[in-house]
Amino acid sequence: MDYKDYYKVLGVSKTASVDDIKKAFRKLARKYHPDVNPGDKKAEEKFKEINEAYEVLSDAEKRRKYDTLGPNWQEQFGYHTPGRRASGSPGPAPVFDSNFSEFFETLFGRSSAGAGGMRAREDPRRRAGDNIEQPVEVTLQEAYTGGARTYNIQATETCAFCRGTGEVGGKTCANCNGQGQLARNKRIQVKIPPGVESGSRIRVAGEGQPGTGGGPRGDLYLVITVKPDPLYERKGDDLSLDFEVDLLTAMLGGEAQVLLPDARKLVLTIPPETQNGRVFRLAGKGMPRLRGEGSGNLFARVKVMLPMQLTEEERDLFQQLARIRGASFV
Ligand SMILES: [Zn+2]
Repeated sequence: MDYKDYYKVLGVSKTASVDDIKKAFRKLARKYHPDVNPGDKKAEEKFKEINEAYEVLSDAEKRRKYDTLGPNWQEQFGYHTPGRRASGSPGPAPVFDSNFSEFFETLFGRSSAGAGGMRAREDPRRRAGDNIEQPVEVTLQEAYTGGARTYNIQATETCAFCRGTGEVGGKTCANCNGQGQLARNKRIQVKIPPGVESGSRIRVAGEGQPGTGGGPRGDLYLVITVKPDPLYERKGDDLSLDFEVDLLTAMLGGEAQVLLPDARKLVLTIPPETQNGRVFRLAGKGMPRLRGEGSGNLFARVKVMLPMQLTEEERDLFQQLARIRGASFV
């Protein structure tokens, strides 16, 4: 692991004042910011390095520790580089998910870095960002199968040029007009889980408003409204619908189709002499449970359809039937 000369990174002397360090940092941060150098990996690395150097040299405690240890820090720190063991095995690669180098993490630990841990003490403005609530209308079909939506949200970003301070080198930041923040349209894809109902709140972590003073972003909440459906009635996880059975099938038995909200068709066996309004319970064909396993019931209610526009012959047959059974079919 290499020693990092943070003074060199910022191009300042070892006796530089906090103001000089700030100035040097701002100048370099503007030059190497990823927004100014899109896709430039070298600039990105440099930008990280500048931030890291600033993180250390702008903090009196960290700077003192860094100065004390110096280039021979490894001996004094009692640090043994992993991966240079006698066996020659490289050892497990350390995983660092922060923006800081292994050198930084070793000196100052991981908890003190990133996530504004240090700034928490420095900046009394530190506050988590507000949550955003975004109403979303879904059809019953979408609620049944789940889906994905692309959403445009209005988000404000902390201005990267002035790091939210609104000024650069003592002057009003031109990038954000001194606001410290920039409004921005953002497209995000959000999954709508199967089984949502009106009032369901889907949390999309970290897509809310940015925090201030290094605070974390708020969350985005999708507030679901399921539109009423002309075919299905919903009660919790259960659905009910009417399905058509022609008179002869109802009387003699046969098959009839039931349409599911995902457009699949179920073929039901209709026993002879099935009465109008009879309900078939189809277990597991209702709404998927948002929390938990499986699905509710689908209650399919028979709606007997009477034949229309009878031919002469058909009318005769019904009349014959009427004579046999008396005045009615009952
Ligand atoms: Zn700015």
